[in-house]
Amino acid sequence: MSGIYIHIPFCKQACHYCNFHFSTTRNQQDQMVDMIIKEIYLRNDYLPSNHLHSIYFGGGTPSLLTLAQIENIFKAIYDIYDVDQKAEITLEANPDDLSPKKIALLRQTPINRLSIGVQSFFDTDLAYMNRAHNQEEAKKCIDYALQAGFTNLTIDLIYGSPTTSNDQWYENLKIAFGTGINHLSAYCLTVEPRTALDHFIRTGKQKPVDERQASKQFDLLIKEAETHGFEQYEISNFARSNAYAVHNTSYWQGKPYLGIGPSAHSFDGNNRQWTKANNATYIRELQHTNHQRFPTSIYDQEKITPTVRYNEYVMTGLRTKWGVDTAQMTSRFRDHFLLEVKKHLKAEKMWVRGTTYGLTKAGRILADGIASDLFYMESEY
Ligand code: SF4
Repeated sequence: MSGIYIHIPFCKQACHYCNFHFSTTRNQQDQMVDMIIKEIYLRNDYLPSNHLHSIYFGGGTPSLLTLAQIENIFKAIYDIYDVDQKAEITLEANPDDLSPKKIALLRQTPINRLSIGVQSFFDTDLAYMNRAHNQEEAKKCIDYALQAGFTNLTIDLIYGSPTTSNDQWYENLKIAFGTGINHLSAYCLTVEPRTALDHFIRTGKQKPVDERQASKQFDLLIKEAETHGFEQYEISNFARSNAYAVHNTSYWQGKPYLGIGPSAHSFDGNNRQWTKANNATYIRELQHTNHQRFPTSIYDQEKITPTVRYNEYVMTGLRTKWGVDTAQMTSRFRDHFLLEVKKHLKAEKMWVRGTTYGLTKAGRILADGIASDLFYMESEY
């Protein structure tokens, strides 16, 4: 299983909590798309197989792309890769871009799944986050997408904002589960360093996130998802009728992927590469390369050591319903895991079935802490 991620580094405006790579200056969008296409060709031998099971347009805001730009990117991908008939092809979209006309255009492309950045159905939350859309657009775009035939539909919601009361969060979930979506990603508002939100909270202009309220809202999320037939297959991801996100699941399962565009990460099974998060550098370096290779000056890389691989496997695997399998670990890591896991089994924060271990409902809220307990630290041995 291999996938391609395409990073579209432009947004209409900066959401206050966001630390992804994007620019609100869009005058280089055409050159950016040209260089993304050039990168797709230059890195045509990166993946171990040219058979693709997923393509994911993320960002930034990929719904800012024109139809011609999307078609040109697909032309390059289909030129090189054998895209599986059943491949999941996702485009992240913001509600304010999804007019019926735009959705009809997207339906003409191979895109078969939309991931809509709704975040909330309340204007107070959306204003706090500095989102570019309002609650009406958030509701309408889901209907438009369904009417146009996008049945594979996921939305993002954010809980834990000081503007989101528990009643409001309950209402958000009720609205979300009442639409025809088959997948939901719900994230706790995180105050990342050097974001506008971080600045506003530190200078007292905005209220901080209340951890206890966020934790209550996480519990409500799990309860309501269950009531509406959505399975929590990953800490932040819920699917109806096994509509698991193919692309993200392959990240969690350590499958190879190629990331195209500034700031995109790639993994070939042994090494991780990441391209510099700078639009001007990315365009300039790719425009000037005469070689048939992706210029080494615009990416960094690290070799994944056995310890990093084990720690990542524990971190991502525990977050999923599939858990981690000690049969996949070498004896050095298995011995460490089996020793450290005992207290979490005793506290009923984890379950065990044969050689597989996962988090119980009570353990899910503690996922990061439990995973770090199970990490292997070279210095301890
Ligand atoms: S639209 Fe998405 S990528 Fe752009 S600023 Fe907002 S959260 Fe970040």
